[in-house]
Amino acid sequence: MRLTEAQAKLLFAERNIPVPRSRLVTTPAEAEAAARELGGGDGGPARHQAMVVKGQVGSGGRGKAGGVVFVENPIGAARAAARLLGSELKGELVVAVLVEEAIDVAAEHYLSVTVDASAGRPVVMRSGRGGIEVEAMVDEIEVFPLDPVDPASTPGIADGLERSLVELFVKCDALIVEINPLAVTTGGGLVALDGKIELDDSARFRQAALHDRFDPGPAPTGSERERRAAELGLRLIELGGEVAVLANGAGLTMATMDAVVAAGGRPANFCEIGGDAYTKATPALELVLAQPGVRSLVVNFCGAFARCDVMTEGVVEAWERLRPQLPVAFSVAGTGRDAAVDLLRSRLGVEPHPSMEAAVRAAVAAAAPATTEGSEV
Ligand code: GDP
Ligand code: MN
Repeated sequence: MRLTEAQAKLLFAERNIPVPRSRLVTTPAEAEAAARELGGGDGGPARHQAMVVKGQVGSGGRGKAGGVVFVENPIGAARAAARLLGSELKGELVVAVLVEEAIDVAAEHYLSVTVDASAGRPVVMRSGRGGIEVEAMVDEIEVFPLDPVDPASTPGIADGLERSLVELFVKCDALIVEINPLAVTTGGGLVALDGKIELDDSARFRQAALHDRFDPGPAPTGSERERRAAELGLRLIELGGEVAVLANGAGLTMATMDAVVAAGGRPANFCEIGGDAYTKATPALELVLAQPGVRSLVVNFCGAFARCDVMTEGVVEAWERLRPQLPVAFSVAGTGRDAAVDLLRSRLGVEPHPSMEAAVRAAVAAAAPATTEGSEV
């Protein structure tokens, strides 16, 4: 996982690697407030300090692409943020910018710790010429090999910032930690002006907290109802036909959908309520039936370890509560079948079908548009 500059700088700061003071913001108004807070003056001629506004995307080379903007005051910061936010930078949408105090730079260096595959060990890479792409300075980079077992104990690591960077590299199972440029300030100090960190995804099992901290997770997908189902721990997939499908287990659910298609129908959606999901039968039924275009429902349960009378009771209770006005066809089989049949007869007055195919045929027939009336064209 590749961290953004702002995330990398958080990790730097936690290891006492100096970084400019900054605020991560997502609106121009926040950028203005951040610039004011960081001492960017009041917009008048007597500015106290210039600011840098930097688009946060996963790749470098932002400076050349116009993603690093120097501004004179908070109004300028707001303007730069307005221009960057929502724009595309290095092929990515900018959703956050870093507002940072500008540093007076005397010289720019390069420092990184990475894995040198050919040497089979981690290395420190140093260069007195930073601020440019690393490819452009290969000849001027000093490659310093590290002890592969305990990199931080390698004799010859410079104390201070360099040692901190090596420790960070080890501590977070990184593939690379890079500071480019590492600024030498006019006051003689060192400041990380940019930061790049790539975490090793193969080490996620022992870096779960670190990965979870920065991983936004997969972007939400699916319809509103599908997301609602997922929040409840239900698997609902919407398809757009007319026959809604409730079944237990992935295999039986797929088989039920195949049967719907084989019977000449189109599945509207499917929701699995096997396992303990029967306790969520009411929201499951609500979500499945809320989809526009649903004209009938087939409920297909086959009990094994999960008893089909327990699952059926969940649906019966949901049905009693919601009293939906649409045709439903049940098939119940396996463990707990007889009790499930009794429940359907006594509480819903419904006779289950003798097989899955029969139930599916009934649901498909009930969903078929009425063609005889001929009045709804
Ligand atoms: P990149 O182009 O994505 O690598 O973004 P950087 O964060 O490295 O910014 C590009 C360049 O802007 C750097 O190489 C610096 O030369 C310059 N820069 C960034 N921040 C500052 C700052 O605070 N002061 C000064 N003087 N230059 C800066
Ligand atoms: Mn850079």
